[in-house]
Amino acid sequence: MDYHVLTLFPDMILQGLKTSIIGRAIEEGTISLDAVNIRDFTIDKHGRTDDYPYGGGAGMVMQAQPIYDAYQSIRKKLDYVPRVIYLTPQGRVFSQQDAKELSVEKGLIFLCGHYEGVDERVLEEIVTDNISIGDFVVTGGELPAMIMIDAISRMIPGVLHNGESAEDDSFGDGLLEFPQYSRPEIWNGKQVPMILLSGDHAKVDAWRREQSLLRTAMRRPDLLSSAQISPAEKIYIEKILAKKNDL
Ligand code: SAM
Repeated sequence: MDYHVLTLFPDMILQGLKTSIIGRAIEEGTISLDAVNIRDFTIDKHGRTDDYPYGGGAGMVMQAQPIYDAYQSIRKKLDYVPRVIYLTPQGRVFSQQDAKELSVEKGLIFLCGHYEGVDERVLEEIVTDNISIGDFVVTGGELPAMIMIDAISRMIPGVLHNGESAEDDSFGDGLLEFPQYSRPEIWNGKQVPMILLSGDHAKVDAWRREQSLLRTAMRRPDLLSSAQISPAEKIYIEKILAKKNDL
């Protein structure tokens, strides 16, 4: 996977993704990351990349020309047409399913907005996907792009090493993950659930599944309708939800 990020703050992207598992994947060549500075492509003699909005109003708008030329500089190097994701609070909300689907792409271009946003005309020209990281507004598209790159990369074979499986993670099967414990066995007077010490893998798996169902029913019941749940588990959940409603 080759990631290309169109941004006014390339250092933020490169610094933010160079550590831990994603940094290791870049070093190992499983993924590549290129941050293109939009400012390098402006034809404005003062190096400006934004201007006042037509019609008035607060803030500045990123201009079309530097973004389009920066985009073309990436396209020229590629022998395929990549999807272009504009990070915007006005897009569909990013999910684990999106991460999985996008992880099979050969490459992706991310466009990070700033200030009041981006001139609509260049968005119409180059963007294939409008994606939001949630119903709130942040200062720029850089953090949202980093979040997406991290989540997508975890789905690419070879990025996670042995023992760093994404399969059991929350949303993997549509449910939240079970609670996790590590050493010591007793901490602050709290004992690790005895079943996890039993060495009986079948029992541990059954306990974890039950905990996932319980946790999802209590914290995110909205996920249950699309999760893979057996008829017996459905009855179990209905009982939990009935109890919850009685409280
Ligand atoms: N005026 C814009 C609006 O109301 O839709 C918000 C502009 S925001 C301050 C600046 C930039 O941050 C956006 O162009 C976008 O790239 C990014 N951004 C802000 N919130 C985001 C979100 N929830 N998801 C993805 N990107 C976001």
